[in-house]
Amino acid sequence: MSTTVTLPAAVAAQAGELPATALPAYLYDLPGLRAHAAAIRAALPERVELYYAAKANPDPALLVALRDAVDGYEVSSGGELAHVRAAVPGAALAFGGPGKTPEELAVALGQALDTGVHRWHVESVAELHRLAEATGHRTGADRLDLLLRVNLPLDAGSLDGVPLAMGGRPTPFGLDPEQLQECLRLLAEPRCAGLRLRGIHAHLASGLDAASQLAVAEQLVAWSAGLAPRLPAGLAGAIEEVNVGGGMAVDYADPTARFDWVAYGAGLARLLERYPGLRLRIEPGRAVSAYCGWYLTEVLEVKRSHGEEFAVVRGGTHHLRTPAARGHSQPFAVLPVEAWPHPWPRPALASGLVTLAGQLCTPKDVLAHRAAVPALRAGDRVAFAMAGAYAWNISHHAFLMHPQPDFHLLR
Ligand SMILES: *Cc1c(COP(=O)(O)O)cnc(C)c1O
Repeated sequence: MSTTVTLPAAVAAQAGELPATALPAYLYDLPGLRAHAAAIRAALPERVELYYAAKANPDPALLVALRDAVDGYEVSSGGELAHVRAAVPGAALAFGGPGKTPEELAVALGQALDTGVHRWHVESVAELHRLAEATGHRTGADRLDLLLRVNLPLDAGSLDGVPLAMGGRPTPFGLDPEQLQECLRLLAEPRCAGLRLRGIHAHLASGLDAASQLAVAEQLVAWSAGLAPRLPAGLAGAIEEVNVGGGMAVDYADPTARFDWVAYGAGLARLLERYPGLRLRIEPGRAVSAYCGWYLTEVLEVKRSHGEEFAVVRGGTHHLRTPAARGHSQPFAVLPVEAWPHPWPRPALASGLVTLAGQLCTPKDVLAHRAAVPALRAGDRVAFAMAGAYAWNISHHAFLMHPQPDFHLLR
């Protein structure tokens, strides 16, 4: 794997300035995030709304930094809902999730009243029954706006080889097309009068490049448009928007690569030309926030074991679980530190391949596997890149009781 990560000067400065006792630390590059998100927004046609999937990284500073570039936030639990509401008051929210509790329903419905929940993503027939019961008294603009989340069978090959498939195959997410028909039938009944169908939602896979994302979006939009003429009386015109989900690819093996937002935006514009009345929404998480996060640490040990080189760093996958969760090597840059204050020899690796492990007592605590480095010594610092999504917040922090990292912000 490549370790050629270019450290922005401000990140390098921070990584060098922090005392060793303040490591490991997270650093979020907010100007970098704002510029990236603005470029994404600029690449999208006007009729495409951009929501940020908060679960990728719900740090309040990130949520606020994204405020100008996004149209809203996608939340997947009552906890995220309350958190995002507090961090970015008044922002439009889409509320999804395959298993919503009665408590979440009560809280979210309460918030929907003061326009917090802009769209509700329905994942099952039973959920629709519960929503109908809870909103029976609502009328007019007070009704709950919802999208039906569908698990659509896609053309063979559309999802081949993608890292995480949430649809197009058996999953706990969303509605099969027959169940969706049942929802449409229910929605036309008087007891669903408090609900207003606005369209279709899908989030079928994660890790798709722009061409594959467009292929999936086209199938989804064509399928959704095909529903319109067959809607029960009373729901006419109800499919006015399609949320095609997130899952835009992030390539951890190539830190310089970016999802081709310009090609994707142009493709969505062509798609929208064919459907003049339609509004599209996307809800990426990883491809928005991954690049702004850095996990800074230092090398504690360098050693040779049965013919292979290992470096042990402060911290580990209990702070940055991304490489363990996905089975990849996290890209990093080495910041050499010349000072070595001890009288004994400095553990060092001349050059070659080294596995960067954390402090956990498990062989699974590997941040980068057999990575090529020019040189590495105890006391050198390491900045792991692409640590801004599914990093800290998916990690098992309590394991082994190390001090938790501080979070620093470049503003
Ligand atoms: C996780 C998730 C997203 C975001 O996925 P990314 O791969 O981070 O872009 C969007 N929508 C739903 C429903 C999700 O569960």
